[in-house]
Amino acid sequence: MIPYGRQSISQQDVDAVVEILNSDFLTQGPVVARFEQSVADRVGARYGVAVNSATSALHIACAALGLGPGDLLWTSPITFVASANCARYVGADVDFVDIDPDTFNMCPKALAAKLEQAKSAGRLPKIIVPVHMCGQSTATREIAELVHPYGIRIIEDASHAVGGSYLGQPIGSCRYSDITIFSFHPVKIITTAEGGMALTNDAELAARMERLRSHGITRDPSLMTHEPDGPWYYQQIDLGWNYRMTEMQAALGISQLTRLSEFVDRRNALAERYDALLADLPLHLPGRLEGARSAFHLYVVRLQDETRHCAIFEALRADGIGVNLHYIPVHLQPYYRDLGFADGDFPIAEDYYERAISIPLYSGMTEADQNLVVESIRSTFVP
Ligand SMILES: *Cc1c(COP(=O)(O)O)cnc(C)c1O
Repeated sequence: MIPYGRQSISQQDVDAVVEILNSDFLTQGPVVARFEQSVADRVGARYGVAVNSATSALHIACAALGLGPGDLLWTSPITFVASANCARYVGADVDFVDIDPDTFNMCPKALAAKLEQAKSAGRLPKIIVPVHMCGQSTATREIAELVHPYGIRIIEDASHAVGGSYLGQPIGSCRYSDITIFSFHPVKIITTAEGGMALTNDAELAARMERLRSHGITRDPSLMTHEPDGPWYYQQIDLGWNYRMTEMQAALGISQLTRLSEFVDRRNALAERYDALLADLPLHLPGRLEGARSAFHLYVVRLQDETRHCAIFEALRADGIGVNLHYIPVHLQPYYRDLGFADGDFPIAEDYYERAISIPLYSGMTEADQNLVVESIRSTFVP
């Protein structure tokens, strides 16, 4: 089976992890701090807060921005459920903004229209979470221009987009947002096994997120209600969680980061090769956003004839091609249906779901692997 995604682990990665196992710290320590600094420097953000998953990063980002009961968060319906669930963790409500059919990202026109309606209804969101679907940047500057007049905060879910860029800036620079989230799950661009990071340029948000990842505890006397009782003293001043990253994960992350450009270059080269090899088939190939370079976490083709979706998907799997579907529209998940969402709410996202197939793409993929994928897809269209 050729998988849709796969990590690339080198001997250098293995050695980095083994070295930590023989050292003094296993849980969060100096290597986590070094990983945070390395990622922040790499993407041009001031602060990085490493955690045990992107899901945790989304949670502490929402909490740090003060999202809570009665508040509203908007995201894209074509994303992993975590982009929406983060609002529910803090007791807030979720709504969605339909996608642009070419980029699969939150559509700025749909956003503008929805903001007008929300303004009239007196129900504006507090936070918006644009998702860099497949690694392709959202139109973040346009989104920021639309939401800033209302004081709405932006969390970029860049789980797919580590190593991508937008308008001359690396994704993660937070040039147009308050916080950017990365995932280091093995199928993503670089991995720490499980892991994530929240990037920000705001010192106060960074400090709050650091506390929230470790129980809401501080050792900073200036934040305490009174002088420390002694050198052992700490105070819990917020309600946080244990979302810490381990030193092994951070060491793996630092080592993986040295190959980030290589990974993203390879993914882009393979994507361009797919563009050429699939051009004559009855498929819609992924569009590109002008001024952006995708990290190409995923390569999604859409069938012109959606009636063959299931049959083609099954034929490819039977042929040993590990195709997948990213994603089932979040609003159609039973949990969200129970909150009142229904078929027809976000028609562009639902049409995408009828046609989309993620075909294999990972940095270790050979051209021979890719040719097998292309031949298999081609054979499903030959009578
Ligand atoms: C993978 C992913 C997440 C969650 O990442 P974890 O690190 O597995 O928690 C969140 N959002 C998107 C868009 C993702 O693809």
